[in-house]
Amino acid sequence: MNPKVKIDKLNVHFGQTHAVKDVSIDVPENTVTAIIGPSGCGKSTMLRSLNRMHDLFPSARVTGKVLLDGGDIYDRKVDPVSIRRRVGMVFQKPNPFPAMSIYDNVVAGYKLNGRVKKSDADEIVETSLRRVALWDEVKDRLKNNSMELSGGQQQRLCIARTIAVQPEVILMDEPASALDPISTLKIEELIEELAEKYTIIIVTHNMQQAARVSDYTAFFYMGDLIEWGETKKLFTTP
Ligand code: ADP
Ligand code: ADP
Repeated sequence: MNPKVKIDKLNVHFGQTHAVKDVSIDVPENTVTAIIGPSGCGKSTMLRSLNRMHDLFPSARVTGKVLLDGGDIYDRKVDPVSIRRRVGMVFQKPNPFPAMSIYDNVVAGYKLNGRVKKSDADEIVETSLRRVALWDEVKDRLKNNSMELSGGQQQRLCIARTIAVQPEVILMDEPASALDPISTLKIEELIEELAEKYTIIIVTHNMQQAARVSDYTAFFYMGDLIEWGETKKLFTTP
């Protein structure tokens, strides 16, 4: 089967810093791939290459290819905004839009696609919040400000906001490292469930977390991909 995401000889430079060095990885559809390695080894830089986030940093220079369903996302004819819709991103620190209600946070990205009927928005909000197991906790206070939620709830809200845009791939940069242990477990369970519908690539510095949630693991060290393969093979000693 063709990979959902094919990373082919990818390099990222920031001036003299060679942050990602000639990396090639095939990511199969509906799987979880963990990117792990020590601080500063290029994990976040690698992740941001996959939805053209580096376009926002003028100092970044990206070479090589990233194919999404066979199409190069760095092709000059491709609109980076369309790529960011297909490839969603969840950040380390929960970042709901602070001035917005829970409801408005979920539909914020979806509305960028154009005008939205109230009934469609209602449906998107309910489906997305159910998918992140937040619906029952917030259904009676959807108009309340998102900042009244706990950190773990805020992170699930951010995941709902990402899902509402109906992406194909979800990138997650240390999505649980700002959370308490219980919220972390909920996020890990959620990641495994989401892989039934989406292709997930997660950066983590936590090896146990990678072993728990991922199907494939990529180990980075100083910008090099030093090991890549099935998680259960990499984490068992022969
Ligand atoms: P990790 O996520 O593994 O901690 P990063 O991808 O954040 O590593 O960083 C890899 C290297 O690239 C580091 O040397 C870091 O300082 C550098 N780097 C990351 N982002 C930028 C940037 N926007 N501008 C300049 N250098 C950067
Ligand atoms: P992370 O928690 O993902 O490791 P950092 O705290 O390293 O993130 O970086 C925070 C932000 O600063 C990121 O947007 C990253 O791209 C940018 N950054 C990291 N290193 C550098 C650098 N050497 N020069 C400029 N920007 C950097």
